[in-house]
Amino acid sequence: MFKTTSSLAAIALVAALLSAAGTASAQEQVVNLYSARHYQTDEGMYEAFTRSSGIKINRVDADDAGILARLKAEGAASPADVILLVDAARLASADAQGLFQPIKSKVLDAAIASHLRAAATPAGVTWTGFSTRARVIVYDPARVKANDVDSYEKLADPKLKGLLCTRSGSHPYNLSLFSTVIERLGDVKGEEWLKGLVANMARTPKGGDTDQIKAVASGECGVALTNSYYLARLIKSDKADDKAVMQKIKIMFPNQATSGTHVNIAGAAVAKHAKNLGNAIKFMEFLASPFAQDYFANGNNEFPAAKGVSTSNPAIAAMGGSHFKQETIALGVIAKNQRKVQQMLDRVGYP
Ligand code: FE
Repeated sequence: MFKTTSSLAAIALVAALLSAAGTASAQEQVVNLYSARHYQTDEGMYEAFTRSSGIKINRVDADDAGILARLKAEGAASPADVILLVDAARLASADAQGLFQPIKSKVLDAAIASHLRAAATPAGVTWTGFSTRARVIVYDPARVKANDVDSYEKLADPKLKGLLCTRSGSHPYNLSLFSTVIERLGDVKGEEWLKGLVANMARTPKGGDTDQIKAVASGECGVALTNSYYLARLIKSDKADDKAVMQKIKIMFPNQATSGTHVNIAGAAVAKHAKNLGNAIKFMEFLASPFAQDYFANGNNEFPAAKGVSTSNPAIAAMGGSHFKQETIALGVIAKNQRKVQQMLDRVGYP
């Protein structure tokens, strides 16, 4: 019995078109991009790349899982040159499955901090982060003091009993954050910390990050975790309800006095079987340019990843721009810890 999903079928179709296009016009310079990003603002960025380089971008849009399944199914015949994915854990997992190839680029080495990239080997680096999202704390200032929630560690303090809300512990956003906390605290203290979070919960984890923000505003929770771009969306919203939510809550970038606020990335890598390797590297380097960085970060209200690049996004500026202290544990390490963290979550009963 042949099974497929609609996203897989859609990619199969476009991939067939891509390979047809690849053979039909051999002289044309192209780069084939498999992307898990679907933002209207990205169009202008891609057009600028083609204008400045003469390299046409053929794009396949799908979700992360669909892209990875497709790459595996296509194997060496894959037309993919560059893969764009969201979340370091997904990039690291694809890397571990041999779907990427290491590249050498002085431009990328100079532009992007090493903790936002795969570990460097003599052959080069596989994936690179091109925008960051911070995992921040939101709290109700009427019920919780700022200095009781200025670190991830304090979320496990019995002072916050009955106040904490999060989405499922197994969601990649939480798995990544918990992995860094456990990397810093060690396994024993890390698991105790997770137990403390469970003991402080106002309710059984449910919903997404925006639901946690709204639950703090409604009084159901006193403190919660969210990715920064969900806050930026609420800040930008014209809806009265969203404005009311933002008036009720405060944002905390945790661990500013210690290890820094946890960030994750949207990033890219060159495909293992890329047929247009030079163009793929050129495209990766373009993504690190100040011009592309602004587009790339704005597409999802994220922070630029390249050093010294600031955002033109007013909602990000309202949250403090990109000038907060970032955690610098290598994101590849975090990805590696996730299995262990999931086992801890099961032991402490964190749904
Ligand atoms: Fe999200």
